[in-house]
Amino acid sequence: MNLSYVDLHCHSTASDGTLSPAEVVQLARRTGLTALALTDHDTVGGVAEAAAEAAKVGLDFLSGIEISAEIPAPATLHILGYGVDPTSPALVELTRQLIEGRDNRNPRIIAKLNEMGVAVTMDEWHAEANGGVLGRPHLAAVLLRKGYVSSIKDAFNKYLGQGSPAYADKEKLTSRQALEMIRASGGLPVLAHAAQLRTENDAQLDTLVRGLVDQGLAGIEVFHSDHDAGWVAKTMALAQRYDLLKTGGSDFHGTNKKDIDLGLARGRRVPRAMFDELDDACRAARRRRANPPAAAAAGTN
Ligand code: AMP
Ligand code: FE
Ligand code: FE
Ligand code: ZN
Repeated sequence: MNLSYVDLHCHSTASDGTLSPAEVVQLARRTGLTALALTDHDTVGGVAEAAAEAAKVGLDFLSGIEISAEIPAPATLHILGYGVDPTSPALVELTRQLIEGRDNRNPRIIAKLNEMGVAVTMDEWHAEANGGVLGRPHLAAVLLRKGYVSSIKDAFNKYLGQGSPAYADKEKLTSRQALEMIRASGGLPVLAHAAQLRTENDAQLDTLVRGLVDQGLAGIEVFHSDHDAGWVAKTMALAQRYDLLKTGGSDFHGTNKKDIDLGLARGRRVPRAMFDELDDACRAARRRRANPPAAAAAGTN
């Protein structure tokens, strides 16, 4: 048995993390992890760099992406897509749609801030994102630098978070669309941080997850920085009930989330087996796509 550890959920400068993809991989190596999946929001822009660095330093690597799907507020529904092929037409189309959703939202956030007397521009947001996907944490960093807030957290509480005055929603995919597009991109969809679904009881959580399973969900994140022992147990039980892959990750964002360390999900480490089982399942999914079962391919009439 391999007693090493991994991290299957982290962000780089390709989205709203503060370390470059190569730096995240180097940090993983220094931390003693043996495998990593990069899961930037709405982009696989960091995957090639991370994969190349991982090969260089001898770390196993899996491509990934994190997508936000439609769900009534205040819930958050994030789907991780593992093993997606960055060059597949489905993935290119998926990320195009996701970025379009942001491009429609971002100027509305700036307009709201300006109306409140906060002097900040799209140009400053772009500069902060430095070529990566524009995320609210970048804007929070601009607000912090300009002295409008005392921390990133404060920026979300005061202005940018759901329910705060400069919040603006972006158009999201339905969960069905998100799951289908991840599968069409050669990947496997996994429910991220179920605690953020903000369900009121176990029955509600079960119904929600069962619905996702019917739509093609392949796994569920068990270890995550938002998961206390209760959530770990709940998600473990759901994985058993619906025969889902179990995954885990820190949701590391560099200094944009100062309380999260790479490789640690609320003090828990993520066992190597979670990477191996996910990686095997991704390979099997790719094989099935390349060679559909004969019966299905032949059809009956
Ligand atoms: P965006 O994808 O641009 O809507 O930004 C969402 C990202 O902002 C999340 O992935 C988190 O990294 C961060 N975020 C959202 N809500 C908060 C919050 N209340 N406090 C700190 N960071 C947050
Ligand atoms: Fe983020
Ligand atoms: Fe998330
Ligand atoms: Zn994340």
